[in-house]
Amino acid sequence: MEKIPIKHSWAEPYKIKMVELLKMTTPAHRKRAIEAAGYNTFLLRSEDVYIDLLTDSGTSAMSDRQWSGMMLGDEAYAGSTNFYHLEETVRDVYGYTYVIPTHQGRGAENILSKTLIKKGDIIPGNMYFTTTRLHQELAGGIFHDVIIDEAHEASNLHPFKGNVDLNKLDALVKKHGAKKIPYVCVAVTVNMAGGQPISMGNLKELRAYTKKHGIKIILDMTRIAENAYFIQQREEGFSKKSIREIVREICNHTDGATMSAKKDALVNIGGFLALNDPKDYEEASNLVVVYEGLHTYGGLAGRDMEAMAIGIQESVSDAHMKARIGQVIYLGEQIKNFGVPITEPIGGHGIFLDAKRFLPHLDQDKFPAQALAAALYIDSGVRSMERGIVSSGRNPKTGKNYYPKLELVRLTIPRRVYTQAHMDVIAESVENVFVHRAKITGLKMVYEPKYLRFFQARFEKL
Ligand SMILES: *Cc1c(COP(=O)(O)O)cnc(C)c1O
Repeated sequence: MEKIPIKHSWAEPYKIKMVELLKMTTPAHRKRAIEAAGYNTFLLRSEDVYIDLLTDSGTSAMSDRQWSGMMLGDEAYAGSTNFYHLEETVRDVYGYTYVIPTHQGRGAENILSKTLIKKGDIIPGNMYFTTTRLHQELAGGIFHDVIIDEAHEASNLHPFKGNVDLNKLDALVKKHGAKKIPYVCVAVTVNMAGGQPISMGNLKELRAYTKKHGIKIILDMTRIAENAYFIQQREEGFSKKSIREIVREICNHTDGATMSAKKDALVNIGGFLALNDPKDYEEASNLVVVYEGLHTYGGLAGRDMEAMAIGIQESVSDAHMKARIGQVIYLGEQIKNFGVPITEPIGGHGIFLDAKRFLPHLDQDKFPAQALAAALYIDSGVRSMERGIVSSGRNPKTGKNYYPKLELVRLTIPRRVYTQAHMDVIAESVENVFVHRAKITGLKMVYEPKYLRFFQARFEKL
């Protein structure tokens, strides 16, 4: 199924011009650091981390061209040259008509949700994402998962686990009526399922269905170029098309998008909302001045918009994407060869350890993925994050914990940052923790924030 060759054929299409030195720490130091951080890797100090796989968000390395672009920042309050460059780039690469910059993805989600959602509306999506679902709920909407069942099984080898189950969507439409469903939120790739792609075929069927019912499609296009790579590698009829062409085709099947440019688009901060409908644009550009800033900067400096415009162009390069995902697969294959259970097929932005199978002696109330992330940090200074019961949070109506089927530890790979030798260190550390896994004990939550608890929750060892 994986057509992607491993070995060295994915080698980087760039060379290194500047380096950032890292602090080396001892296991005793790391034990103290993680205890002080309440066993939450989000609360560690970055200087105590050796290889930082917490997230691929805003952690990528910019190119010399992007850095040069920073010097071209036009910091005018209104009508910055860099905004027009960004707008032109979004139209060129993605094809949307209107662009509103935002400080990052969730800024766009907030404005989009407030623009399109009325109280009591139903928002179907191919699995939830933490900030996306929260903004839908804060706007009065109710999220419904319509991803195919295979996505909830860590070891199911379906090549497009991000696909929407049209029967699940149709059941929602029949139950609530299409008027209650302003849009379907489609993520490319699906972060919470392990960076799993949606196929073009599925998106086309979804477009036909939603057109018939007058429902919009809004993309969460955070990792669209990575999704395009999987379509190119796995879907019939796309092997000769470029990432750029596939990206454009995905966007053509949708009505708008929210973007966290901190991922695909290779910048440290930034995002945007893109729309085709002039009425939606008018409402959204009214709201952006309340929450982000004027519609020609949206919370960003001119230089940030310039770096984003250049990063978007670099992100749709075939050579870049082959190396980016090649590195992720290189790491995943190594970890798999040690017999460690991971989510498969290997996704676009990281390796997801299956904590349920890794630590079968801990039930979900003992936060196995949280405990595993802490153990990995102590072993080698590799920082990962929990994607399981802590990230899932509680049902806002009943206050009960969600019990997600997937209990994962995410090793997220920043773009253009770490070397193949770093990948080897990570794999060896995962193996070491796996060998000694019986000694890992569970955790109890001693502090729980009200929103997005995984960021700031604190734990103690049981
Ligand atoms: C990161 C992310 C977001 C939110 O973007 P931020 O820039 O972190 O605010 C939304 N959706 C997905 C799939 C993401 O990965």
